[in-house]
Amino acid sequence: ALKLVVVGGVAGGMSFAARARRLSETANITVFEKGPFVGYANCGIPYALGGIIQSDEALILQTPESLNARYNVNIRHNTEVVGINREKKIVDFQTRDHPVRSMAYDKLILAQGAEPFRPPMKGADAPNVFTLQTIPEMTAVKQYMLSHGSKSVAIIGGGFIGLEAAESLHALGMQVSIVEYMPHVFPPVDQDVAEPLHAEMRRNNVSVHLNARIQEIVSSEENGATSHILLESGEKISGDVILLVVGVRPRVKLAEQVGLETNRFGIVTNPQMQTSDPDIYAVGDMACTTNIITHNQQNLALAGPANRQGRLVADHIFGRDVAYRGNVGTSVCKVFGINVGLVGPSLTNLKAQGIQAEYVTVHPPNHAGYYPGATPLSLKLAFSPTDGKILGAQIIGKEGVDKRIDVLATCITAGMTVYDLEHLELAYAPPFGSAKDPVNMAGFVAANVLRKDTEIVHAENLTADALSEYQVIDVRSPSEYVKGHMKDAKLLPLNELRKYFGEIDKSKKVLVYCQVGYRGYLGYRILKQAGYDVVNLDGGFKAVSQGA
Ligand code: FAD
Repeated sequence: ALKLVVVGGVAGGMSFAARARRLSETANITVFEKGPFVGYANCGIPYALGGIIQSDEALILQTPESLNARYNVNIRHNTEVVGINREKKIVDFQTRDHPVRSMAYDKLILAQGAEPFRPPMKGADAPNVFTLQTIPEMTAVKQYMLSHGSKSVAIIGGGFIGLEAAESLHALGMQVSIVEYMPHVFPPVDQDVAEPLHAEMRRNNVSVHLNARIQEIVSSEENGATSHILLESGEKISGDVILLVVGVRPRVKLAEQVGLETNRFGIVTNPQMQTSDPDIYAVGDMACTTNIITHNQQNLALAGPANRQGRLVADHIFGRDVAYRGNVGTSVCKVFGINVGLVGPSLTNLKAQGIQAEYVTVHPPNHAGYYPGATPLSLKLAFSPTDGKILGAQIIGKEGVDKRIDVLATCITAGMTVYDLEHLELAYAPPFGSAKDPVNMAGFVAANVLRKDTEIVHAENLTADALSEYQVIDVRSPSEYVKGHMKDAKLLPLNELRKYFGEIDKSKKVLVYCQVGYRGYLGYRILKQAGYDVVNLDGGFKAVSQGA
């Protein structure tokens, strides 16, 4: 029988093993997992930490026994693979009580995941500093908090794990601080998209520290209790417990020891997820894959890709003609009452990778405005200025974020353009959406830009110099205007705009704006057809006041 050996028994590894068994009843499948649990839901850990998920057992989806019963897989938990011999095709493995033993393989599947990154930081080895990747790590934090009566936590890292842990520990009644090196949390998105997350956390009494340069972690007692993070600025952020969640690094040591090709993104793989040794596959967080938009290599530590890659490897081993198509990087995160979602690179990342991109920002309600409970979404859509191909989307709002991100992820995967978004027929009834869904709206606006039905300018490009070229017209209502407006803006409410042409100088360029962009667009159309040289402010006054 074909001998299949898997290293790592969680997302990618278990997906492989289960699919392999579905394809072959005769294969000999062994899964090595160095930890005590296999096939568990590590994505639920931040929520179980603070008790939003009430029972830790809920994370343990499978046991070695249940997996063996259902899939006839030989599960070796608490067993670490410590060596690979590629010539003899064997792995060496070890348990706490046994010396090293060996097992032969025909195909070896590496699904070892990624290591929590521990930046070299003075004081990071104190007993109250924890990483948060596995159930035993979560249990250690919980036990520490319980035995020390911890009341505050400082979370180093504002990525999705840090943000989820912040909400979860806040629900437990702890005083929570977030310490982030970058100018904003949830680093994959743009600054303006992340800004509302800061406001939402502060509204919930989370203390948010951005651009934070940590000098050291200072523990004032021997056992680590009552400590603080000292910033280079001299500021002290106290935390009885400190979580270090600053990202992960692919676990490539074993692979490198035996000469498998790696790069800074992980183990190099082909579209069938084979490493430089065709009998050894690598999947999930440890594998380097290609981004569909940028065509660059990347390391994408997300559960969906890991699961699908594991499944795909089983298909390949059993003779199916399959290829991994690459990533679009679809992710979503809940931060108290706000959700943020991303697909494709942010504008910042597109720019950094030298990819030409235009974008539009729309702020439609998540469902029909007249149906109770509608809340606005902010949807930033990036696309190619030449052919309109969709390059990415970022959405933030209270509800309906995940649905639109998933629609746009599907569109990007299908290689669709903004013109295609104009034609998408999406489910609509007042509680769910609008007859023109936010996704359609983004398509209309983007296609208008490409067809030159509207010309836009972005808040981020409005330097003082650029602004001085324009006469600025605010087409909102007087009550909106008095609450705040752009410098030197003249108030000409939209419904009266046609009456006031005499007040607009035809020889000077016009910048028209409203609150979020739509009335500005209507003003643009009126003025354009009256012969003015006009641009509309993308995202409206909201974009300027947010400092986008
Ligand atoms: P893992 O699932 O990490 O499994 C690797 C396993 O290999 C580990 O259990 C490890 O012990 C074992 N192993 C390593 N070396 C050896 C060895 N030498 N011998 C034996 N065993 C070994 N992704 C999302 O998309 N959405 C989320 O909401 C989300 N939330 C997350 C929350 C947390 C707290 C964490 C830690 C991750 C989260 N992720 C999320 C990421 C997601 O869990 C990972 O991308 C996914 O689990 C990767 O799968 P993998 O199989 O590559 O690695």
